[in-house]
Amino acid sequence: MERKPKLLLHICCAPDEAYAVNLLKGEYELHCFFCNPNIFPGDEYRLRLCEAKKAAEIYGVPFTWDDYQPGLWEDAVYGLTDTPEGGERCEKCFLLRLTRTAEVCASMGWPTFGTVMSVSPHKKTVMLDAAGTAAAGVYGVGYAPFDFKKKDGFRKSIALSRELGLYRQNYCGCCLSRGEAELKSKSFNL
Ligand code: SF4
Repeated sequence: MERKPKLLLHICCAPDEAYAVNLLKGEYELHCFFCNPNIFPGDEYRLRLCEAKKAAEIYGVPFTWDDYQPGLWEDAVYGLTDTPEGGERCEKCFLLRLTRTAEVCASMGWPTFGTVMSVSPHKKTVMLDAAGTAAAGVYGVGYAPFDFKKKDGFRKSIALSRELGLYRQNYCGCCLSRGEAELKSKSFNL
């Protein structure tokens, strides 16, 4: 029987993971890797990690994760905290997480990695792919530039996560995005 190509998949949250894994599992041998020092606060990190493990179990995909090290994210975005979501701080945040994923990919001896982050319409695919390609170059592995938001991916991921009973967060991850989301919801309630 022909073996499927191996793909290490960077996971940011369970809903995006479930959608991407469901889509790719027929084509690839997958391994999920949760690496998100950006998530704030620690309780939210543990909740997202727990749900991401649950999603991997549902699909029978191996899953590993990094210890929670929020200081890495703080260092990466130092001096950029006044930039808006989608700008330079997100560029650094993507690079941080994908560089670590590339490192893990190389240490596993796997040829390629990708990320599920492109499910979100708030994450620019061009920016994600630039970070993934740069990270891959550092460790001599390949980067697979998936754009999961295509073909109505975001809406489908919401429906699938509801069906599977997965927790869905209402902000991207960092303390700044949490503050921005709170402000938005307050202004809608005025
Ligand atoms: S908004 Fe999201 S991608 Fe941007 S820095 Fe915060 S956690 Fe990272």
